[in-house]
Amino acid sequence: MYLTRTPRTVRSFFREVVWNVPGTSKDLYLTFDDGPIPEVTPWVLDTLAEYDAKATFFCIGANCATNPDILERIRREGHTVGNHTYDHLPGRKTPLRTYLRNVLRCQEFTGTRLFRPPYMSLTLAQGRALRSRFEVVLWDVLSGDFDADIDGAKCLENVLVAVRPGSIVLFHDSLGAEERVRYALPRTLEHFAKQGYRFRALDERALR
Ligand SMILES: [Zn+2]
Repeated sequence: MYLTRTPRTVRSFFREVVWNVPGTSKDLYLTFDDGPIPEVTPWVLDTLAEYDAKATFFCIGANCATNPDILERIRREGHTVGNHTYDHLPGRKTPLRTYLRNVLRCQEFTGTRLFRPPYMSLTLAQGRALRSRFEVVLWDVLSGDFDADIDGAKCLENVLVAVRPGSIVLFHDSLGAEERVRYALPRTLEHFAKQGYRFRALDERALR
């Protein structure tokens, strides 16, 4: 069980984290975690391009090392790159120093001010250490594309009912999410484009 919209109470409790981009303009911030991989990421980029949409990719360092050409394409096409650790480590199960080393190893590829902890798992000490260098970015809309118990239509519905102006939406360019993201992403773009939304990449310099 998970909530597709992060409750305001949770968000206000973790003030130092970016959950959305406050404002009333019809801007939507799509984010894609766990790539880049050849099976899904180029398709995501093609689909975004059809709508002149920009997005943010929280990349796993090991995938960047294997697929540098796709990482390069993400940048060339005007999207933002975020750090998602080198090995997709769970923060609360990883010692501080090991965790920070892994983040910095990823940073050799991502070179970014944006960080998103895998599994939303981060200790207070890790968060404190990272904040001197990074903005920690989570989301206010969870598509549930990682959830094998739902289909693409449900994933799409999760997004459509939860989005507000300035929302940050979590998708994955991963094999586990592929079936649902291939259904939900083009329809999300179509739906909100019709409503006059713009799809924007997170601006590393302008957050908070
Ligand atoms: Zn992840």
